[in-house]
Amino acid sequence: MTISNKTVPFVDLSLQHQPIQGEIEQAIASVIQRGDFVLGKSLQQFEEAFAQASGVDYAVGVASGTDAIALGLKACGITQGDEVLVPANTFIATVMGVIQAGATPILVDCDPHTALIDLNLAAKAITPKTKAIVPVHLYGQMVSPTQLLDFANSHNIIIFEDAAQAHLAQREGYTAGAVGMAAAFSFYPSKNLGAFGNGGILITKDEDIAQTLRSLRNYGAPKKYYHTQVGMNSRLDTLQAAILQVKLPHLSQWNQLRNQAGQIYDQALQSLEAQTIVPIKNVSQEGHVYHLYVIRVKPEYSVSRDRLQDILGEKGIQTGIHYPIPCHLQPGYKSLGYQLGDFPQAEMLCHSILSLPMYPGITSEQISWVVEQLSLIQA
Ligand SMILES: *Cc1c(COP(=O)(O)O)cnc(C)c1O
Repeated sequence: MTISNKTVPFVDLSLQHQPIQGEIEQAIASVIQRGDFVLGKSLQQFEEAFAQASGVDYAVGVASGTDAIALGLKACGITQGDEVLVPANTFIATVMGVIQAGATPILVDCDPHTALIDLNLAAKAITPKTKAIVPVHLYGQMVSPTQLLDFANSHNIIIFEDAAQAHLAQREGYTAGAVGMAAAFSFYPSKNLGAFGNGGILITKDEDIAQTLRSLRNYGAPKKYYHTQVGMNSRLDTLQAAILQVKLPHLSQWNQLRNQAGQIYDQALQSLEAQTIVPIKNVSQEGHVYHLYVIRVKPEYSVSRDRLQDILGEKGIQTGIHYPIPCHLQPGYKSLGYQLGDFPQAEMLCHSILSLPMYPGITSEQISWVVEQLSLIQA
């Protein structure tokens, strides 16, 4: 077998698209035929289907996951002067969305084993201005819903979930997005449910929040040419909704395949000597939807994380780092006033994490081969 036969891509979207390509093309053709490109029939149908799949009453499609956070927080009543708790280790869009809503993000360090926000530290960051917490269900694993609800109730603040990486994830009997007042999802192409471009959605059990967001995404107009707010132009395109509508019925099966692949990785990595490479801990078993499969390379491992990434790359194994710089050290966010050392766990993770190939359809042979290479480098 040649080396190229062994190449393992980081993601392979064609595996999920090929079997349903005809159906997707039909869905696109119907939109063209109807011509309802903005706020059309497929959008309404997809919103209903996505809300139902997530176990809530309302869903409102917007142009991106970031807009779902920014406009969603506004719709939940978050405004200028409010402080919003967010994890220091997340994709920057979480922090960006809070700022775009007009509020002040207050960063909180994470648990080094799960990489999820540390609620004990979040408690210490509470002030009289704290109005909300935005837990990020990072890598496809939910922050504990029972602990979140206790936390939010005891401090009298709202929960707004960033579920951009956790479509249909579950923990403690809750589904991602059904824990708090509202939740944001992204349909960026590589997310567990991805569009053919950008897209996002907000889900909520609260009819008023859904109504407010429908207006906010549509020029602040609850009815045509009548503008009660400044608003935005941020609708999920009918075409994208039509594509997502075809993909949604396959989502739980894709998630199951991701979960199985995660378990195979976990098992295979246990054989590595002295546990010099440890996976980010799965504390939600079957409910983890593994948007990413992330390992921590400990200092005792034979090479550094960066060197490991290079060596794997040379062997045809594509990897990623999610994320290489924590939010508080991003140059564009200096004005938040943080500095190196403020969030030691997030900083430690940035230097030691590596995301291995993960997508529905990755085979156990591919996973075994990846882990074998890790053990060879170690030896
Ligand atoms: C992808 C992502 C977002 C933003 O979604 P976009 O659709 O790219 O705007 C927000 N938060 C997290 C955690 C994400 O992974």
